Amino acid sequence: MFATMAELEQALGTCARCPLGQEPHNGPTTFNGSPQSAFAIVGEGPGRVEDEYGVPLVGPSGQLLDKALASVGITRDLIYTSNVIKCRPRNNRTPTVDEGQFCAGQWLDAEMALVKPKVIVALGSVALKYLHSPDARITKDRGQWFMTKYGIPAIGTYHPAYLLRLTGKELVRAKWETYYDLKAAVEKFTVLAPEAVLKSDNPPDLLALYEARRQSRMKKSAEKHLSE
Ligand code: SF4
Repeated sequence: MFATMAELEQALGTCARCPLGQEPHNGPTTFNGSPQSAFAIVGEGPGRVEDEYGVPLVGPSGQLLDKALASVGITRDLIYTSNVIKCRPRNNRTPTVDEGQFCAGQWLDAEMALVKPKVIVALGSVALKYLHSPDARITKDRGQWFMTKYGIPAIGTYHPAYLLRLTGKELVRAKWETYYDLKAAVEKFTVLAPEAVLKSDNPPDLLALYEARRQSRMKKSAEKHLSE
């Protein structure tokens, strides 16, 4: 276990404890937002943009998430955002339940022990299966509260990557369901942490915030590629 988030982040940055760590990518991603926040969002795993920047949910999915969160009065800088899986699987495939169990057992559990959020939102199937149970289904179980093994209440909703694949009536329905799930999360959070603030007036541009990290990761990857 780690005493601080800084210690955890440093160790995570060099993790290669499972086969995903050997696949071509720019290294493990960590987390973003505020580790002091009592409101946590847990997604699936990094896509191409997240792999470049080294943090979760900053690509197209993250931008849609920002809009959904804004609709319920949340900005990303005042919440904690992480993923079940830290390394991008080859060809952006969906991580397996076993991969999720292993990586989250190494890292997400330690993050939750340090952050100690009051409420968790599980985004998508991989997060729901880890935080709820392996046979949980996002279509059946989203929008319903459950207790995680951390003793922290959680609610599942659609991953924004899923919303981005929908069109027409299906998209409208799923967007409304996501809105009501997030609204339910904020309502519970307000009861459990009445003093906490979830919205800032000037939230940072996440891509600009992590641009230096992106450049460093891309440089390291290029050097590694040249030396192979
Ligand atoms: S997926 Fe997780 S456990 Fe596997 S190498 Fe990456 S950080 Fe480590």
